[in-house]
Amino acid sequence: MHDFALQDREVLTDLAGWIADRRSTVAPVRPARLTRLPEVTAAGIGIGATWTVLRDVLMPTAFPTDHPRYLAFVGGSPTPAAVIADAALSAASIYGGSELEAGDVVAAERAAIRWMCDVVGYPVEAHGVFVSGGSLANLSALVTARHGRTTPGGGVPSVIVAGASAHSSVRAAAAIMGCEVVLAGSPDRPLGSDDLALALGSLDPATVVAVVATAGATNTGAIDALDEIAECCADRGTWLHVDAAYGGAALLAPARRASFAGIQAADSITIDPHKWLFTPFDCAAVLYRDPRLAREAHQQRADYLDVVNGADDDNPADYAVHLTRRARGLPVWASLVANGTDAYVDAIEVCLATADHAAKQIEASSHLELATDPHLSVVLFRRKGWIREQYAQWSSRARADGLALVAPTSFAGEPALRLCFVNPLTSTHDVDLVLASLEA
Ligand SMILES: *Cc1c(COP(=O)(O)O)cnc(C)c1O
Repeated sequence: MHDFALQDREVLTDLAGWIADRRSTVAPVRPARLTRLPEVTAAGIGIGATWTVLRDVLMPTAFPTDHPRYLAFVGGSPTPAAVIADAALSAASIYGGSELEAGDVVAAERAAIRWMCDVVGYPVEAHGVFVSGGSLANLSALVTARHGRTTPGGGVPSVIVAGASAHSSVRAAAAIMGCEVVLAGSPDRPLGSDDLALALGSLDPATVVAVVATAGATNTGAIDALDEIAECCADRGTWLHVDAAYGGAALLAPARRASFAGIQAADSITIDPHKWLFTPFDCAAVLYRDPRLAREAHQQRADYLDVVNGADDDNPADYAVHLTRRARGLPVWASLVANGTDAYVDAIEVCLATADHAAKQIEASSHLELATDPHLSVVLFRRKGWIREQYAQWSSRARADGLALVAPTSFAGEPALRLCFVNPLTSTHDVDLVLASLEA
């Protein structure tokens, strides 16, 4: 069971070809839940037959996020360099929690974290770790923000103040931590210091775990006024966490950097490479301006861990809510080294330009209208005269026909469609096809 038999080596050759060719794969060809999967049996069906089922039966029912017309939610389009590093990582059985086991794989991940710290403008001592997603990154940052603090009454701080466009994971983190979320501002516009001051006004700073600002709201792409917010937090001595899970990648586009001004003042930042930095799922970075507190908050201690917990050890396990972990920063590093950062800048700018094209086509169309000004690579728009049901019907049909994955959403209480561009292989022709299908 643990040997690669000679006849099974063909599977590896086929897998390599499949990886190289699958970019041309289009939308699902088979409705999910109609296929019969092989049963788990005492004898098993072998690697060859299992690979055939994976390749021909299971995988084709998924709408891959790197399909050029996967424009729903926030997709992802990994580079080949990231894909091979990710595949090798799976095959190599590397425990990514500590240097003792993972050797220089930890150094490569650290280099990728360092690069991200440079991108946000963090100082040399900043550090962080790659976790499974923005949700875990946000939770880890908020746990750090509260670590060791008590209120004057001897309790623990239990209020998280977040902009109204904050991602659902902030509420989930608050629930885990036994915290209440106080929302500031409106979900339809970026958070500024006036709305934040209003929300913080009546709160004792000692009870506030952190303020969470968003740089690239998931629904709208909007960036909160980070500069003002950072000042407001500094005045009160409040921890600022900036959730840039989706939007952070746009820091690489010179023309967009100014809208992130102030991000370098955040105490912690979330950026997901699996969204717009071309890395396979799952991979999110949590970055800390001063990592010492994060280490204090998260390092697990036990007799069997003493061997890795020396004063000189610097282990990825120590900076988030995890112990065993995949060295999921390796694909980030491999892709950066392979492609160079200029290619990243170009790829992100292509996505921004495609979003611009979509917005212009919508503005020029007689049957479509923008729901709001586009931010980053998110375009929210409406089909004139449609009710919610019609959006849902069109969206299901587009998915079933293999045309596109575009999900309906709401903006300002009204139904809308949302396009999110994070794949540089999405062409203006893809956009035109989707928009044309809304005419009927
Ligand atoms: C996607 C997203 C998250 C959650 O990230 P996961 O990787 O899905 O856990 C958090 N915040 C924002 C702003 C996001 O866009």
